[in-house]
Amino acid sequence: MLKKVLHSIWIVLIIFIVISVFKNGNYINFAKFMENKTFDIRQSLLTKSKQPNKDIIILAIDDASYEYILDNYGQWPLSRSVYADLITYLESYNPKSIVFDLMFVKSLNNDSKSDEKLGSAFKKYKNVYTAMNLDNQDQDLRKAPILPDKLSAKIENNSKRVDLGSYKYTNCRSIIDPIINSTSNIGMINVSREDDGILRSMPSFLNYNGRYYPQLGLKIALDYLKHNSQKEFVIDKNGNLLIGDKKIYLDNDSDIILNWYGQGATFENIPIYKVLKSINSNNKGSYDFHNKIIYIGATASSLFDIKTTPVDKIFPGVEVQATYVNNLIDSSVIRKTSFGVNVFVNLLLILLTAGFVFGLNSLSGSFLAVIGLVSVYLIYTYELMKHFNMWAQIVNPIIFVFITLILALCIKYLLISKDFDKQYKLATTDGLTELYNHRFFQEQMKMYVENAARYNNKFSLLILDIDYFKKFNDNYGHQSGDAVLKQVSFELKKNVRSSDIVCRYGGEEISIILPNTEFDEACKIANKLCSIISSKEFQLANGKTSNVTVSIGVSTYGDIDGVDSSSIIDSADKRLYNAKQNGRNRVN
Ligand code: GH3
Ligand code: MG
Ligand code: MG
Repeated sequence: MLKKVLHSIWIVLIIFIVISVFKNGNYINFAKFMENKTFDIRQSLLTKSKQPNKDIIILAIDDASYEYILDNYGQWPLSRSVYADLITYLESYNPKSIVFDLMFVKSLNNDSKSDEKLGSAFKKYKNVYTAMNLDNQDQDLRKAPILPDKLSAKIENNSKRVDLGSYKYTNCRSIIDPIINSTSNIGMINVSREDDGILRSMPSFLNYNGRYYPQLGLKIALDYLKHNSQKEFVIDKNGNLLIGDKKIYLDNDSDIILNWYGQGATFENIPIYKVLKSINSNNKGSYDFHNKIIYIGATASSLFDIKTTPVDKIFPGVEVQATYVNNLIDSSVIRKTSFGVNVFVNLLLILLTAGFVFGLNSLSGSFLAVIGLVSVYLIYTYELMKHFNMWAQIVNPIIFVFITLILALCIKYLLISKDFDKQYKLATTDGLTELYNHRFFQEQMKMYVENAARYNNKFSLLILDIDYFKKFNDNYGHQSGDAVLKQVSFELKKNVRSSDIVCRYGGEEISIILPNTEFDEACKIANKLCSIISSKEFQLANGKTSNVTVSIGVSTYGDIDGVDSSSIIDSADKRLYNAKQNGRNRVN
């Protein structure tokens, strides 16, 4: 039973290994998918312990504002002139920056005057930013615009891990000329989604026609950190983007992995209609915009492009942008643990798991210890993310622990069963002759007697004694005696059926149980053995050879010789004595 279970485990394991090796890509995708899910869970659990930066405020075009705009301006989108007025109004508070997470792409209703007015506002205030979007739109639909040099960035990549080639675009939704001509405060707002549709990270640089363009949020963060003149970027050999003395960890595809603050409307939100109302009523209002980063974007459900994030299924794009900036200015970007650390942790877990399996006697003890180990590891990964913003792998280590557990258990029980076989052999066989020992003989006799009584399976017993063996020893020495005893035993085993049980009864006496054998048949076998032994040359210790003969007593379960073990043995013994009396080398 145990062997069958072990065999099945081995087969399952081998199939598992073969599949994971040959369909390597599948395993990697599966592990990545699951690992991402563990990230989402950790992030969701951790939102309560994080606070967004109070310097970021979202001026939200929420549902109420959308209604206000339709009622008061009669259209959406708003006229560019309204945004120009908004900038002028907000600037009176001396904010750090004003960021439009909106795109001023085409001219609205041929209102070029308003476009010019907005362009002038961008020109006048150096802290106003707006968004652009790169795409791969067919050039038949829209000719790929040429972007001015001032928008691009130079990157020196010293990392083998970070690949800047992940984002290549061939087209662009460029914004209106009055703005492009007025400012270089324009950034891309492309996001990256993973296969499961969830936005966990954001690209930092996007390649458009051979040049790199930075993420809008990166520009805002640089401004906040007073590095706004930085247009040349260095990625160090560990894959960190250097901003001043800050090191921003980049993922392998050059993304920044976001550290999320919570479900939508995490940041301080002010509905934009309140500000518009203040402007329209010439009311100064009392807002806390001084030195703040003001993000203007849509949160109304009918307006914003819904993003799915680790912490919320419905997440406004403007909040994603704000999260990105917040991560950069607070240095709370998520870092993945390095390859070396991963290898070390995996090895440690594998060693501990194997240690628990081999070190603890009970199976349940080993399981409990491994469950404990995994729990401690999970807490460690949680705390690491909480305190150090580190993403330590969960899926691979747990799979390694699981495989180690199964392998170690298989090896352990294989060793135990091998040891058991060895112990069993030691307990039942005779060291010199390798025949079964006396104890085993007695047990078998009992069993055969019981079986014979229950199923009427007759059996016979031979007791065999080497003739004049004392003299043989005297003549050739005990070593030769031992050698001959061994060879006689070997010959006997060789010349009976595999179901016959050959035992060393004691000294130079050998007993053979013959299952399902009547007396006459047993005598025939005994005679055959007698003549085989007498005709055989046996090797002596000195290299010479000699002959020996044996005498055999035969008895059979039944009325004549008895139906219990001792009378059957007695009877065979008596017949052996008779054979000796009658001249030896014979059967009786
Ligand atoms: P017989 O049986 O023909 O009457 O004469 P025998 O000399 O064989 O007499 P018996 O069976 O009584 O003697 C047993 C002898 O077998 C005693 C001992 O010297 C020898 N003997 C018993 N066990 C061993 C053994 O393990 N090794 C060796 N070398 N000799 C043994
Ligand atoms: Mg004897
Ligand atoms: Mg003898």
